[in-house]
Formats: sequence, C-alpha cells, structure tokens
Amino acid sequence: MTTMHNNERKTPGPSASRADAFGESVIREMTRLAIQHKAINLAQGFPDFSCPDELKQAACDAVNADINQYAITWGAQELREALSAKVSRYNHMEFDPATEITVTCGSTEAMMASMLALISPGDEVIVPEPFYENYGPDAIISGATPNFVPITDNAPLEEETWKEAFSARTRAIIINTPNNPTGKVFSSEELRFIADLCIDHDVIAVTDEIYEHILYDGRKHVSIGSLPGMEDRTITIGSFSKTYSVTGWRVGYTLASEALSGRIRKIHDFLTVGAPAPLQAACAVALSLPDSYYRSLARLYESKRRKLFKGLSDAGFRCRLPEGAYYIFTEISDFGMPDIDFARYLVEKGGIAAVPGSSFYHDGGADRLRFTFSKKDETLDEACRRLKELDIPG
Ligand code: GLN
Repeated sequence: MTTMHNNERKTPGPSASRADAFGESVIREMTRLAIQHKAINLAQGFPDFSCPDELKQAACDAVNADINQYAITWGAQELREALSAKVSRYNHMEFDPATEITVTCGSTEAMMASMLALISPGDEVIVPEPFYENYGPDAIISGATPNFVPITDNAPLEEETWKEAFSARTRAIIINTPNNPTGKVFSSEELRFIADLCIDHDVIAVTDEIYEHILYDGRKHVSIGSLPGMEDRTITIGSFSKTYSVTGWRVGYTLASEALSGRIRKIHDFLTVGAPAPLQAACAVALSLPDSYYRSLARLYESKRRKLFKGLSDAGFRCRLPEGAYYIFTEISDFGMPDIDFARYLVEKGGIAAVPGSSFYHDGGADRLRFTFSKKDETLDEACRRLKELDIPG
C-alpha cells in the first residue's frame, strides 16, 4: 500500500499507535488532488450526477417530518424490514430484521465493524489481491494478519494457491464481488469452491457486495451467503451508495446470523451509535423503486463503460472491459512510468485524476492505474479528449 506523497511522518508523542501502521487513503487523496488541480476526478468512485428525485424528496420529507433524532442503533425498523424483503427477493437469503440486519454508516463501517467483531489479534484473514484499499487498514486496525491470494481479471482462480492459503489460523476471508478494482464478477462455481474451503476450515466469509446491481453482458450476481452451508458463516455487506448514487449519505448494512450480528451490533453501537436517521427513512423509500430502475442503472453504466474503454484504448492504455462495478483497471507498463509518477503527471498536467495501481496491492501494482466511469457522459467525453491529447514523457 503506497501513498502519493512521502508518508514517513514524524509522529508526535512517545507512543506509536495502529494508525502509524498504514498510510492515508490514496483514493481520497486523489480526490483532494483533483480539486486542487481542477482535474476531472476519475479516481474516487462516486457519481457526478444526481440521485433519483424520489430519494431527494424522501430525504427532505423525513427531515420535515422531524425524523432528526437517533434511529434505533441497529437501524430504523422500517428500513430493516424493507431490506429483509429486498434481500429475500434479489439475493435469495432470509434474514430476520429484528436480530440479523444492522444498518451502518456505509459499507466502510460495515466492514470495519465486521472485522472488529470477528478478529482476535493474530488471526489470519485471507484478502484476495488486488483489493479495495480499505481492507488493508481494516485488517491492521482489527489486529488481523492479512494473507493475500491472487485474483486475475477475467481468469479462473488459481485453486491450488487458494487452498494453500487456508489454515487453522484463518478466521475470515474477504470477498468482493463485483470486484473493485478488477471488475471481476465471481461465478457461482468459484463461490462454491470458496464456500467449501470456508466450511472445511471453519472460516467466516465477509462479503462486500456494494456493486451487486452494476453488472454487464447479462451476468448475474451471486451472494456466497446464499450457498448451502454458508448461512451461518457469512457476513454480507451492502450499501445504498452505488445503487442509488448517494455515496455521501453513508448508509450501508450487514446481514448475518443472530450470533454474528450480536457482536457486530455491539461494535457498531460504540463506534457510531447509528447511521443518519432521515437518510435511513429515505433509503427505505429507495427500496420500493421498481425493477426497471435497476435495469436502467446497469444500462447507463454499460454505455459509460464502452465510452471510457474506447477513450483509454485510443490513448494507448491496455485495458479489459470489466464484468461488473464501474472501474477500468488499466495496464501502463507500455508508457514506461510507474503508477505514482504517472498519476501525479496525469492530475497535474493531463487534467485527469486516476488511482495508482499500488494502492490495491500490499506489494506491486506499479504497472496499473484505475479509472472510474461513474460520471456524466460529458465528463467522460472531456476526459477522453484530454486522454487523447496526453503527451506522455518517457
Ligand atoms: N469505493 C469507491 C472507490 O473505490 C469509493 C471509496 C471511498 O472513498 N469510500 O473509489
């Protein structure tokens, strides 16, 4: 995990803490650099377009209806009930809203609370690599020892390597499908293979499914928690951020057995007390949108995927079309500049912010850059124009 600047800070005071064991988020840093250099932000994955009008109205209505005090710590009842129905229909899993669903401050808190709920210091957690950068610090903060296994874009899992990663020390594995940054969508066969390893080694799967509705070419989302034998050994994490274009609302959730949820709820309570009450009310309304909403969302991102893919390919970047999520994880070795230098050059001189590949690896990734296409068509058109004009030194 690498940061854009020299991260060797002098820590004031005599005692170091876990915060000294990892750098700042490069993704969020790139957003600050994009603002500073007035660059187009294709780094952090959030839309620059509006969320649905129904959601804006629902949020205003909730504030006006005086839903402005704490919700119940595990989430407003109407939202947990609406989630239970949605998850039954879309993910084919049954959860009791009273005891098995916990509303959190985004999937970020959901992952952190899950890790803190599961880990005793020294436990190993398997982290498929490349990984969304938060999982590294999540492991360090919770006291887990990460054990990285490779995933390759559009290639089958290296089953022998995965089998060897599981041991008596393994407490959990982090799954992320559709995957950030690779765009891989795990098939039910791959998830069955992972599930069997979890069952054989008594391991909990923590699965981040925030991009569950952003899928291409007819692919279907499969939740590992829906596979037989995984009901009580999976924590499924979801969020409203990407599906409804409300990343700033910070509303996510965990789905897990009563025993696991009990621990998650304790951690969640003392971390945050609860997610924003009026926005929870608006999220319950979001879950009543018709199925056509989700089809349009996938279609919208499908055309943006093609647009950015063409822009990057025309500019000489080697890339693959992602199977899901809204990132293109390009290869940049042809340009002869490592990721951090390239990202700095791009944001300062090219007017485009992207994320250096190394922020998705514990070691490696210097030959990759990640671009998001979660932007308006005109934003992407302008980015493609700038990419074409790039004059890469080197
Ligand atoms: N998941 C998004 C990304 O990878 C946004 C990350 C964040 O900053 N919460 O860019």
